[in-house]
Amino acid sequence: MGLHGQEQDAEVIRKIYETSLSQGRSYEWLNHLSNQIGGRLSGSVQAQQAVEYTKKELEGLGLDRVWLQPVMVPKWVRGTAEFAYIESEPGNTNNVPVCALGGSVATPVGGIKAGVVEVQGIAELQELPREEVAGKIVFFNRPMEATLINTFEAYGGCVDQRHGGAAAAARLGAVGVIVRSMNLRLDDFPHTGSMSYGDLPASQHIPAAAISTNGAELLSTTLKLNPQIKFYFRQNCRQMADVLSYNVIGEIRGSENPEQIMVVGGHLDSWDLGDGSHDDGAGCVQSMEVLRLLKTTGYRPRRTLRVVLFMNEENGMRGGTKYAQEALTSGEEHVFALESDSGGFTPRGFSFDCTPEAFEKIMEWKPLFEPYLVHHFTRGGSGADIGPLKPQGLVLAGLRPDSQRYFDYHHAENDTFDAINRRELELGAATMASLVYLYDRYGLPDQPAREGGR
Ligand SMILES: [Zn+2]
Repeated sequence: MGLHGQEQDAEVIRKIYETSLSQGRSYEWLNHLSNQIGGRLSGSVQAQQAVEYTKKELEGLGLDRVWLQPVMVPKWVRGTAEFAYIESEPGNTNNVPVCALGGSVATPVGGIKAGVVEVQGIAELQELPREEVAGKIVFFNRPMEATLINTFEAYGGCVDQRHGGAAAAARLGAVGVIVRSMNLRLDDFPHTGSMSYGDLPASQHIPAAAISTNGAELLSTTLKLNPQIKFYFRQNCRQMADVLSYNVIGEIRGSENPEQIMVVGGHLDSWDLGDGSHDDGAGCVQSMEVLRLLKTTGYRPRRTLRVVLFMNEENGMRGGTKYAQEALTSGEEHVFALESDSGGFTPRGFSFDCTPEAFEKIMEWKPLFEPYLVHHFTRGGSGADIGPLKPQGLVLAGLRPDSQRYFDYHHAENDTFDAINRRELELGAATMASLVYLYDRYGLPDQPAREGGR
């Protein structure tokens, strides 16, 4: 790419940003998804409405093809609002905010009341003698590490308690599990998220709930004053039979190499507590906007460009898995995939899952992103939904927005449209479209096939 090439590219990219910031559609789409439809848990009526709405909107963009890809998804329902309190002595109680973890079983109808064992993680729990845990509620209270600048690392350092804590506690005879919310801030919102009993037989499944960070602090302090206190919680969530749902797909057919497919995407499902504006309504509308921005600015991709709105990332990953399987069986060639699933905040750059040779090439594009302050390029993970495409040997990328506020909202009731800043969302869409443009124009060295996500 010579100087002349870079000037031309800078001009194309400038047009993309200008169009997104002055005539963007992403914010409008997200407003509808969030405020007219709402939380989109897999198998829910809202998830189906989101499928229909985004399909219709994509059809309105004049793409070459828009279709639905059927996929069976798990259906878990929360039921009525959960309820919990700390009982410091009989008759003396403090209510605390909790929510069932996704995939958890219910408590008995009357709830569970038991003594509490606080641990900082699964390893600490496993060192306790069975008699100290049996009959108790295990309270996992390891906080996210505040000193980590990338808050996703802090999340990664804690989330095992949420995902596997109940199974580990059940093996020691515990009757329930309470997990500190994955949130760096002290507030009153419990944060849900997926959990699994692994291979534990159904008869041994115990209920698991998240407690708000303020609630966790209160519980921990109360326990220090009196280790004999009791905790009560009640939830009536349940797992239903699988339900038919869909990935929503639209594409612009490549003008020169239509057999080479580039994917941009996010996940259309969300948790049920908020309306999933950041996780991951933002990523969906940004991905839709990538196709619209390229079309509006008059760029016709040489390769086929597909937007995929994946279903069921949160509690099953069935959409991502299904998409990759179908791509494999139909012999489609995927060369590039980009996901946005880290919130709709100010974009900073991208993380690339690729060879050092490809990354070296990508770094040549970096100056083009500098005017927009989105030139933080690293090698690392990409996105959960596109991970299963890895065996195809392609370049994977993830949009990396600023992560400082993400876990204030992630999987909680306050992940709502008012937490979205219009310009930040639009900048993210333009940043994605710019990278797609550069990949389409220049390509990247071949990648080895790698082991895919699940
Ligand atoms: Zn997500």
